[in-house]
Amino acid sequence: MTIVLKNFINGEWSRSRATEYLNVVNPATAKVLAKVPLSTAEEVDQAAQAAAAAFVNWRRTPAGDRIQYLFKLKTLLEENLEDLAGTITQECGKTLAESRGEMRRAIENVEVACGIPVLMQGYNSEDIARGIDEFMIRQPVGVAAAICPFNFPGMIPFWFMPYAIACGNTYLIKPSEKVPLTMQKIMHLLDQTGLPKGVVNLVNGARETVDAILDHPLIRAISFVGSTPVARYIYSRAATNGKRAQCQGGAKNPVIVLPDADIPMTTRIMADSAFGCAGQRCLAASVAITVGEARKTFTEAIAETAQSRIVGYGLDEQVQMGPVITAESLSRIEGLIQKGAEEGANILVDGRYPHISGYEQGYFIRPTILQNIDPTGEIARTEIFGPVLSLVHLETIDDAIALINRGPYGNMACLFTSSGAAARKFRYEAEAGNLGINIGVAAPMAFFPFSGWKDSFFGDLHAQGQQAVEFFTQTKVVVERWQE
Ligand code: NAD
Repeated sequence: MTIVLKNFINGEWSRSRATEYLNVVNPATAKVLAKVPLSTAEEVDQAAQAAAAAFVNWRRTPAGDRIQYLFKLKTLLEENLEDLAGTITQECGKTLAESRGEMRRAIENVEVACGIPVLMQGYNSEDIARGIDEFMIRQPVGVAAAICPFNFPGMIPFWFMPYAIACGNTYLIKPSEKVPLTMQKIMHLLDQTGLPKGVVNLVNGARETVDAILDHPLIRAISFVGSTPVARYIYSRAATNGKRAQCQGGAKNPVIVLPDADIPMTTRIMADSAFGCAGQRCLAASVAITVGEARKTFTEAIAETAQSRIVGYGLDEQVQMGPVITAESLSRIEGLIQKGAEEGANILVDGRYPHISGYEQGYFIRPTILQNIDPTGEIARTEIFGPVLSLVHLETIDDAIALINRGPYGNMACLFTSSGAAARKFRYEAEAGNLGINIGVAAPMAFFPFSGWKDSFFGDLHAQGQQAVEFFTQTKVVVERWQE
């Protein structure tokens, strides 16, 4: 019998009154794992009301007491890491090693949020005038919500939720309807911490559920991660409704390979960046810009590495790359490869239509390399979100940086070199918010902001660390005089 997923509202698991359900599908086997409800506006309202009611006491709970629940959550996440990683692999397709890595970053965010008693401190000045003192204090904003994408079902809610509740807010999570199982399990763990009811609520759903969140007057802050068109939409609708919003969008991440780079190391790191998680990372390398001699050396090496990657079901430990998320996604990726060829690219390694023994129904594509793409064409600008690396050749680092800076996105850019001067120039001039130098996936640790720029981010305060604390608090300034 197919499992029907529930919502978690006001400390209780409840069956949704939705009339529509979607199948949650294992992308490696195409088997249905569960059914997810597309929850109604009424259910969003119940969750928001529960969170608002819980806020009254939660914000009065001392920060040092609030974080005790996070310490318990960290222990429970550690104890259940293998189970959670297995669930991520089943619903999302990535390898077990990738799923474990994802959960490690989730846990790291819990650890950082445990520092809230210090992180959310304000400041003060005595005697701003004779006998008058001034204080800045940080207070929680109220009820906040996260709307999450499919590609990191265990990690992305943790870019926000631990900070939000540690700061005294109450919370609502809307996971991706494609991968809702991981958050079901995490909510069970949160429940085991003894967290007061209503502090964190889970509402499953898709577009209409999101609109109900965006329009709900009790929800004061929205964190979104997903594609750029949706990020832009959510940012503007949230703003129209007077909410603060941080919306992380899509990407098209370029990587420059200079002739003085260590080519074996660059190739290993680049293959992991472009093909890891089947290219479905917002920090996946998408375009490699070779400069000078690197054209020959890097191209030969990456083609060989791409062909040798072991593709299959992520639950098999030796597998290095799993499937992409849906059949629609697979055919979109295949179509974009064709489009690249029509724009003049050479398909140097063609990973389309592979035979993966035992998983013939899965949504598989092997690593693919497009050589000599048109730098002004559609493929150079479109996020493929699959295991496809495009190669462009330019003569100088200046041309390469100029190409990067003409792109619409600014999520990540990387450089491979052994020159400190080239590295400094790149760090100074590249227009992206997360940079890697001899690094292929420049994913910020939990105590740094996840700093997308341009069409990769709408808002001003990013996820994680101190910026998350600022997002989830509002400042209050108090000027005081007491007559002696
Ligand atoms: P998506 O935009 O399709 O969906 C994200 C969320 O928005 C889901 O919860 C979905 O239910 C909801 N949604 C989708 N369409 C909507 C609509 N029209 N109105 C209201 N809500 C809507 O993204 P996805 O396919 O789940 O995730 C992949 C995308 O996320 C890629 O573009 C990737 O680059 C991006 N991403 C970005 C980051 C980052 O940090 N910048 C991180 C991870 C993923």
